[in-house]
Amino acid sequence: MSKDRLLDIRKNNCNPMTMKVTYYKKPVFINQGYMQWLWDVDGRRYMDLFAGVATVSVGHCNPKVTETAEKQLRRLWHTTAIYVYPQIQEYAEKLASLLPDPLKVVYFTNSGSEANDLAVLMARLYTGNFDVITLRGSYHGGSPQATGLTSNADYKYPILSSMGCHNTMCPDVFRGLWGGSHCRDSPVQTIRECSCSPGTNTHTYYQKLKEMFATTVPNRIAAFFAEPIQGVGGAVQFPKNYLKDTYQFVREKGGICIADEVQTGFGRTGSHFWGFQGHNVLPDMVTVAKGIANGFPMGAVVTTAEIARSFGKGVHFNTFGGNPLACAVASSVLDTIKEDKMQENSTEVGTYLLTELAKLRDKYEIIGDVRGKGLQIGVEMVKDKASRDPLPPVAMAEIFEDTKDMGVLIGKGGLYGQTFRIKPPMCITKDDADFFLAVFNQAVQNYME
Ligand code: PMP
Repeated sequence: MSKDRLLDIRKNNCNPMTMKVTYYKKPVFINQGYMQWLWDVDGRRYMDLFAGVATVSVGHCNPKVTETAEKQLRRLWHTTAIYVYPQIQEYAEKLASLLPDPLKVVYFTNSGSEANDLAVLMARLYTGNFDVITLRGSYHGGSPQATGLTSNADYKYPILSSMGCHNTMCPDVFRGLWGGSHCRDSPVQTIRECSCSPGTNTHTYYQKLKEMFATTVPNRIAAFFAEPIQGVGGAVQFPKNYLKDTYQFVREKGGICIADEVQTGFGRTGSHFWGFQGHNVLPDMVTVAKGIANGFPMGAVVTTAEIARSFGKGVHFNTFGGNPLACAVASSVLDTIKEDKMQENSTEVGTYLLTELAKLRDKYEIIGDVRGKGLQIGVEMVKDKASRDPLPPVAMAEIFEDTKDMGVLIGKGGLYGQTFRIKPPMCITKDDADFFLAVFNQAVQNYME
């Protein structure tokens, strides 16, 4: 089929309106993938630093995972969790063994949105409360319930499923206490004592947190959701102790704490297998998807036996959740992360990228911030360092397209679309990182000229 015909179908019949094609000026027609590489229909190779949105964790068509999938395809594709079959039981045990006590009960879904929907249901059943809090900049999915959790207005529709979902303020280490122009002068190290929030004098960070909750959310809470490092929000990281303080406060209000590990799980952040471990907290529930099965549709909720009991006599059923093929693939992904030391590689190459990108930040006026952990990296672009105003979309698009034309695919995110997102398959090498750094440097330079 011709490229024009493919674009025509895409425009009229396939996700029309709701999803713009990335690189819409000159779209990439992807045909094939291997590890950190993609090829288009003309045979042009791209380095994939976005991994299908932080999903292809161990590389496109990873040979080990592909072999497992092929074997399973010949044995059994589908049966549902109403039966006992080794793949689901064995994988549930394997996944739970990677989480601390008492997070040992697993429910399988097909996506991150489904996992978060189920988490909301369980939190409400368990606590008897209705209200759920998420943070500005968060993304938790596209299903009706999950769009209520997701903060960005672009994803929201006037539907009742947003009822009881409160998208509240989120600390902004780059721009000051809660972000926004009023406290741009608050440097990172004094974020706990920012004195320039509107209408206030000096506040300690924790007082401010309590005040913010008291004025924006109800007194009885079902759950608090947070991504340990925001993904779509642009690799937003929280200040030290933020999650710890918030978890304590939420629990005082009768709620449970849920870590959305859809992007940060499975070793992506390097030093820890789960993002929450970097915050010294223990969630009551963890939701996972994306990297769990390297692109095969799968998600899960892992929680405690006590919370799981709140289903009571209710039946929860998911036709495809935990099917044999998904479980076999996910199990092989876990083995591959371990055998091929991919978590260690996330630390090594991620740290290298962060260090080298920080040098570019110091070199260019329009690179405002470089942040993240492991291979969950954000590069926030600004008009200039003094104002920290977001680089406008047209300028972002120019650098983005140029980077692609030089052979590297990256992502974009952030509240204003001002942050480049680097989340490659965890098999990338330092040489790949060097190639990307040279390309990105050139793209920024081209824009500046
Ligand atoms: N949570 C997070 C943190 C995500 O990034 C996403 C997807 N971008 C989701 C949930 C929803 O996952 P899915 O698209 O698989 O429904």
